Amino acid sequence: MIMENMRCPLCKSEMEKGFTDVTFRREKSIIVIEDVPSILCVNCGEAVIDSEISQKAYAIAEREMKRGVVLEFFKFAA
Ligand SMILES: [Zn+2]
Repeated sequence: MIMENMRCPLCKSEMEKGFTDVTFRREKSIIVIEDVPSILCVNCGEAVIDSEISQKAYAIAEREMKRGVVLEFFKFAA
């Protein structure tokens, strides 16, 4: 679905709703959150993620890093 009022911050193309993977790295930890709802550029693939959603993804990553996880993949559950 094309977002009428949104343009890619990089290439100014149209954007549409979709999902993306977000990777968090800190020291030895890599946490990948998959299927994060986002707005994607149809041209270059740049992803814009709502701040509420990115905070939620960050909270998951933070929790796992505190457990000392080295590499983990999560599905983002809305
Ligand atoms: Zn773009």
